[in-house]
Amino acid sequence: MPELLSHSTAPSATVQQVLRAGLDSLLVARLSSTAERQRGELMVLLGSIHLSPAADRRTLPLCAREGGRLKTGALYKLCSDGGVRDENATFVWHNSAPPRVKFFAWLLVKGRIQCRSNLLRKGILEEDGSRCPICDAHLETPAHIMFHCSFARQFWAALGSPPVADGATLGVASVCPLPATAPARSASTLRLLCFWHLWKHRNSVVFEGLSPSLSWIRKRCRDDATLWRARLPLDHRADVDLWLTYLPPVRL
Ligand SMILES: [Zn+2]
Repeated sequence: MPELLSHSTAPSATVQQVLRAGLDSLLVARLSSTAERQRGELMVLLGSIHLSPAADRRTLPLCAREGGRLKTGALYKLCSDGGVRDENATFVWHNSAPPRVKFFAWLLVKGRIQCRSNLLRKGILEEDGSRCPICDAHLETPAHIMFHCSFARQFWAALGSPPVADGATLGVASVCPLPATAPARSASTLRLLCFWHLWKHRNSVVFEGLSPSLSWIRKRCRDDATLWRARLPLDHRADVDLWLTYLPPVRL
């Protein structure tokens, strides 16, 4: 219930604290319609919980030996290799973009950037207000901004990338288009450069009244490509010269 959690004044409260203090005392005064609905669902769940005065019993069955002793080798393995690797981890984290852009990429592949489809889902926008601010498509989703918007298609085409499939999503990095000559070793960084500036361009249209502009976005891509050159490994830095050939100034 992430929407309800975002309305909490104590997001780290335990179940015991919620039951003792009352759920409403840990929420802000005004809830969105989605949070109000989730509050009702949570109240039903809380109503079925009965706390026991006994201490919690916690076990690690994967790390137990006979006689109640701990299997430390299994515990180390659980701590160091116990998770599931996200399929987008390489795309999001293994590149030379600045940390804030990597974090943006993580939000992007999770579909969590604050575009209009997400504001609609959170009850912050009505359906009428969720159209694309650039091309007026019926719903502005993360994939729409990056791939399917008429402006994004123009941007990728001008870069020299192959057309994006109609159903392309942001969940798998392999669908991201790039020119065929782009070096694979720096491809993730170039992709993030493009996604980052499609997002910044969209925000400038929404918040600063910018008219959609290929010249604008290509200049900012060039500027950041030049800045990011020093972030690449020494023997990859020449790739930036190739990127800049995809991004010459245009007058449209
Ligand atoms: Zn659009």
